[in-house]
Amino acid sequence: MQNIVIVGGGVSGLLAAKMVARNNANAKVSLVEQSDRLGGLYTSFNTDGHGWLDYGMHMFVTCCDPEIDRYLEDVLPEDQWHRRSDNEKDIAGIYWHGALQKHSPFPDLRRLPAEELASMREGLMGVVQNDPAKDYSNAKNYLRSHFGSEVASKVMTPLLEKLCGMPADQLDYFATRLGNISRVVLCDEEEALRGSLESASFRSRIAYPDQMKMPEEFRTNNKSQATLYPRRFGLVHFIDALEKQLQDLGVEIYRATKPVRMHVEEGRVCEMTCLSNNGEIVFDKIDHLFWSAGLAPFAQVAALDTSDVERPHFSKGVTVFFKLPQPPLMGRLNYFYCFDKGFDTFRVTSFASYCEAAGSDEGGYPVSVELWPEEIEEDKDYIAQAWNELVAFGVVDDSHKNVLYKHAIVSARALVPSLHNMDQVNRLRDVVQSANYKNAHCIGVFSEKDVFFFPDILRGCYQKVKAAGLI
Ligand SMILES: Cc1cc2nc3c(=O)[nH]c(=O)nc-3n(C[C@H](O)[C@H](O)[C@H](O)COP(=O)(O)OP(=O)(O)OC[C@H]3O[C@@H](n4cnc5c(N)ncnc54)[C@H](O)[C@@H]3O)c2cc1C
Repeated sequence: MQNIVIVGGGVSGLLAAKMVARNNANAKVSLVEQSDRLGGLYTSFNTDGHGWLDYGMHMFVTCCDPEIDRYLEDVLPEDQWHRRSDNEKDIAGIYWHGALQKHSPFPDLRRLPAEELASMREGLMGVVQNDPAKDYSNAKNYLRSHFGSEVASKVMTPLLEKLCGMPADQLDYFATRLGNISRVVLCDEEEALRGSLESASFRSRIAYPDQMKMPEEFRTNNKSQATLYPRRFGLVHFIDALEKQLQDLGVEIYRATKPVRMHVEEGRVCEMTCLSNNGEIVFDKIDHLFWSAGLAPFAQVAALDTSDVERPHFSKGVTVFFKLPQPPLMGRLNYFYCFDKGFDTFRVTSFASYCEAAGSDEGGYPVSVELWPEEIEEDKDYIAQAWNELVAFGVVDDSHKNVLYKHAIVSARALVPSLHNMDQVNRLRDVVQSANYKNAHCIGVFSEKDVFFFPDILRGCYQKVKAAGLI
């Protein structure tokens, strides 16, 4: 019988456990999670009388390989999913240039004064034609090589700096992926379609002007991609169903349990000691270890030498929730990013836009405002701040005044993708990989370069479980 230990009970660890257990009926699979709840970032909190709420916008995006996606999809019966594809898949907007833009999540340059637009258009079309090599040295240079100097300096660099709270020449190019800062709207439908069919360079920079009317020909990537969200509101329903599947497959789950050291022999992790409320738990005779709890904790538990690596800095944010008596004034938008200076809002989510039950089951229409302030101030009234920003966006008005529920929580915020932080992450990965433990496999966020978003994480888990000979 094989002994498989999985560390981390977020979606990576849970889905990896399912992949292993389903394909190895005789294996003993143990999953260790440091907190007392499963799901990591992809779960919900109970509002005590007002139902469940998720920690901001999180949907599952399929990775377009049916063999891999089934581990996600069959967590719930098909009729318990909201499944969306094509133009309905991910309806996003932006607050940019003083207005909430609902037709596209990319800055619509047609909203700029005619002269400015003409000059930007000329520069951008020059870049489209020449399609210069990308400069990945930092986000500022990347944006310049992708959009040309004028669009980069006047439009894209300022909005990226607002999003990340630091100068773009100190940011890794990866920062541009966090807010999807890859395209602009420049022209009408006909020209966009013609240009895109003629040139991949055009397609990679110019967005279709109306996301809801985008024809299939325009969708060059991921034609079969879908988003999934449980029909019952709250990702917790997905996590509970997945936990039940794991239990049925015989996976042993250890909550509130944290690895403290591992013992390595002949390049293999053979034993791992964990601390729980009931004392030490020792997993021995380990055949495979899958680690989804981050590179730094792995290096620490494995006692690897990280003396010349700084721990990457994770900032905190504040997520403020409101239950509104009326739907927010966001049209069909599931969420929007705020790209204008003067606001701390990173993203606003209207949950009922992608999960009908959110607006009916529990009473009221839930909205979350993810604030990314420079520093968290303990006594600050973030609820008032979030509300004022919603008013300024035009998302709430007098009809929303009788808020049914409001709550603020300090929340995880994505790693600030500065050059320094990403360099430390890459160095940590080098340290972990050079230890070359044959039976230890890192999965999850940043386990490999640029692995961050869910589809890459799901694919990465599958590939590592398969490479270990367990699928
Ligand atoms: C603010 C933010 C927003 C994001 N938004 C998106 C998005 O919109 N779309 C998207 O696709 N991706 C998004 N991501 C990426 C997202 O984190 C991943 O897609 C997904 O959550 C990864 O799951 P995971 O299991 O790898 O990590 P996590 O969800 O972080 O789970 C890790 C688990 O490991 C546990 N753990 C940590 N240390 C230890 C330890 N020492 N011992 C035992 N257990 C431990 C944690 O408690 C946690 O349960 C976002 C990330 C952040 C931080």
